[in-house]
Amino acid sequence: MNATVASPFKLDRRTKIVATLGPASSSEVMIRSLVETGVNVFRLNFSHGTHEDQHQRLETIRRVEAMVGRPIGVLLDLQGPKLRIGTFSAGRVQLEKGQLFTLYLAAREGDQEGVCLPHKEIFAVLQPGHDLLVDDGKIRLQVQEVHLDRIVTKVMVAGVVSDRKGVNVPDTQLPISALTEKDRKDLAFGLELGVDWVALSFVQRAEDMMEARALVDGRAGVMAKLEKPSALDDLSRILDYSDAVMVARGDLGVELPPERVPSLQKRIIEYARLRGKPVVVATQMLESMIQAPVPTRAEASDVATAIYDGADAVMLSAETAAGQYPREAVEVMGRIISETEHDGYYRKLLKVYPIEGEASDADAIAMAASQIATSRRCSAIVTFTSTGSTTLRAARMRGEVPIMGLTPSTHVARKLALVWGVYSVQTRDVASFSEMVGKSVRMVQRKGFSRLGDRIVVTAGVPFGTPGSTNIIRLAVVSSKHDKDKPE
Ligand code: PEP
Repeated sequence: MNATVASPFKLDRRTKIVATLGPASSSEVMIRSLVETGVNVFRLNFSHGTHEDQHQRLETIRRVEAMVGRPIGVLLDLQGPKLRIGTFSAGRVQLEKGQLFTLYLAAREGDQEGVCLPHKEIFAVLQPGHDLLVDDGKIRLQVQEVHLDRIVTKVMVAGVVSDRKGVNVPDTQLPISALTEKDRKDLAFGLELGVDWVALSFVQRAEDMMEARALVDGRAGVMAKLEKPSALDDLSRILDYSDAVMVARGDLGVELPPERVPSLQKRIIEYARLRGKPVVVATQMLESMIQAPVPTRAEASDVATAIYDGADAVMLSAETAAGQYPREAVEVMGRIISETEHDGYYRKLLKVYPIEGEASDADAIAMAASQIATSRRCSAIVTFTSTGSTTLRAARMRGEVPIMGLTPSTHVARKLALVWGVYSVQTRDVASFSEMVGKSVRMVQRKGFSRLGDRIVVTAGVPFGTPGSTNIIRLAVVSSKHDKDKPE
């Protein structure tokens, strides 16, 4: 019988799912269920939980990964320099529109007249007319006077403000690094654990990414969370120093009016795709599923929009970390991905911004592989890769067939779990053409991509195993002479 074997991958979907782990989703049973439902990458949110919690989660992910037989990526999300006010003697105060409210540098209990804001960097750059947004933008204060020890503001949007609420400062670039002391400790800890991606919060400029890159030193991919207006002004340079980006719509929609978010999402995705950098769309995707087993129609539409826009991955936050229906949220997301990608309109939209190849060997090969795969109705493109970059260039084409990334590096295989249309497998390197074809043919059968008689396209670099050398393309037929059960 010539049947396709069951695949550990969800081969009917190209867009990937990132799920945040938290108290609702850290048991081995739940993590396994989330992986089986379709999670490709887990996000460890270092704004919450102890190092011990994160350590346990990572170990559980690795155990589950071994059970299900496909690489799972782990994304460490650093908290970044989140600014916060101090506390109030009554725990909270009601601010009225038009009243003055003072922010003090020195420690003091807050009241109706003012509260402590213990961040002297802000005092150095704020000017009259700038806005301060408190508690996710629910309260808006406009700066009236700036003194060395206090900032006098006027309440423009009123409401209740309580202890330790977050403050966003959208109008100016703050003279602070995107990495706090806590972030540096968390980063060192996460790299020691072996995370695959590191996301930097509140990136303002390319220099933030350079600093992180130097610390990470190739041990993980670095992702820029785009949530500050100033980052959007420096996007091209930020991408130069980032391996991936996240449209972090939570803070982005506070720093900028929410009506700006949809068009920015489209621009960022298009630009990142052109540059061949994976792009994740995050926050409030299925928010109502924190409490309900089904999403709203608007949420289903929002997830589909990110997919139509061409994102590599869509992300769940509180839905899986703290919600009542983590598995259902992943299942719904998977169904929306599948439905959207099978809509003819999806392919049509991807062609609206055709991706041109750059003048490089890797791109020439990637483009040719994609064309051959379509015109010869191949069932897979197999890319041999040491660093993942060849596979990324192939994924950038957004072609019609799945891409198998074969790599000797477990870490590269896990990193590629984030990338649109890529299904990675860690395997030993090859040393000759016949080994290259033999291994490709065996792997596509073993992992459920292809059956006997199918055609596949294989790309690799000669000399074999040399990073950056992709220079060959081979059209092969899956035949029985390459025994799929032969041990690697
Ligand atoms: C966001 O702001 O959208 C985001 C993903 O960041 P966090 O959840 O860490 O605030």
